[in-house]
Amino acid sequence: MAQSESFSARTAGDVLADLEAMSSEDVDWKAGRVFSLAYFAGSDVLDVAEKAHAMYSSANGLNVDAFPSLRRIQADVVRTVTRWVHGDSEAAGFMTSGGTESILLAVEASRQRGRHERRITSPNVVLPESAHAAFEKACSYFGVESRRIPVRSDWRADPIQMEQAVDADTVLIVASAPQYPQGVIDPVADIARIGAERDVNVHVDACMGGVVLPFLEMSGEEVPPWDFRVPGVTSISVDLHKYGYTAKGASVLVHRNKLLRSYQTFVTDNWLGGLYGSSGILGTKSGGPMAAAWAVMSYLGDEGYARLTLQARRTCQRLADAIESIPELELRSRPDSTLVSFGAVDGVDVFAIADLLRARNWYVDRQSPPDSLHCTIHAGHSATIDEFIDDLRTCTDAVLTSRTANTDGAETIARETRGAYGTIE
Ligand SMILES: *Cc1c(COP(=O)(O)O)cnc(C)c1O
Repeated sequence: MAQSESFSARTAGDVLADLEAMSSEDVDWKAGRVFSLAYFAGSDVLDVAEKAHAMYSSANGLNVDAFPSLRRIQADVVRTVTRWVHGDSEAAGFMTSGGTESILLAVEASRQRGRHERRITSPNVVLPESAHAAFEKACSYFGVESRRIPVRSDWRADPIQMEQAVDADTVLIVASAPQYPQGVIDPVADIARIGAERDVNVHVDACMGGVVLPFLEMSGEEVPPWDFRVPGVTSISVDLHKYGYTAKGASVLVHRNKLLRSYQTFVTDNWLGGLYGSSGILGTKSGGPMAAAWAVMSYLGDEGYARLTLQARRTCQRLADAIESIPELELRSRPDSTLVSFGAVDGVDVFAIADLLRARNWYVDRQSPPDSLHCTIHAGHSATIDEFIDDLRTCTDAVLTSRTANTDGAETIARETRGAYGTIE
């Protein structure tokens, strides 16, 4: 096994065998037993992503004069995503390394726009408390005040309260389509109107929904307006390493026009190395995720995404129906896309249910407040959802039985650590 103190040279075969062994301890996301963090659309899709990634893993997107193929790859990917989110010919964007980088850049572009156009020196962002943690990171990095506004009882953002929190120093207003914790779509049109009336940026975080929602709409489902067809929306983030089913490290940030995008880019000559410009946070930028995204999007085409989206959506509805039929469980909301969040009735510990599911080799997200379990449903779950639903019933029953069997009412099921969506080791 690999040394812990230092590396000393060994054969490639030995090294790779070690990695193989080490990865066997990780969650088995390809088997459809993990409802978070990884996405699977079949081994054929994975194979395309991996081969393209390997071809470009050392190519550097920092300089597309040296790597013109990456210029073309990025342009093709951004154009396709722009079409999905109904940007017009003015719209412009870049590929980033993920949803977090897209969000960091949306906040930074808003801060820069506020500084240049309105001389704002103490900027704030108005956002619902359901918006992703990455906005908090962005505010912390860039010295922007985060004004978190409570969501309505249906978990959607509250435009009335948000409007009241907006002031002359507000540089950005945020909506999500859908938000991660409860999987619902915010009232984007009402939120965007607040920004449009004041000429303030409005970002729609469609990291989860950016690929799913366009294809749901094309399939005939009613989807509330959330993209560039809504006046006032100035930027949209779409993760490709989620429902684009490509390799990790790929997202797109699209701005309504080039002027808005110009606040995202950075250029300096204030060092001894000459003119240096970059589109995002990274300097050196691996071509691997860019090429993998291009390859998977070309391989699947809109037809493939339409099929995979419906597969994930039906599977998600199936799980939501099952949860509604279990009296001790409480669906937070009917899912607007492919995320399911649920808690348990008073006195039933939903994390104890998660512990029992874990013992049966299922991995779900735990979140609070309120204590809830969260499942991100991808196309690959269609093969395992029935088994999962059976086990969810069994584990819920087991928690109930152990609770009623225990006369003093104390917890009898040892609870694992709470677990978290992100960790800091
Ligand atoms: C995943 C996600 C993000 C963050 O994206 P990363 O790729 O994890 O950096 C932001 N917003 C939403 C709604 C997400 O689901």
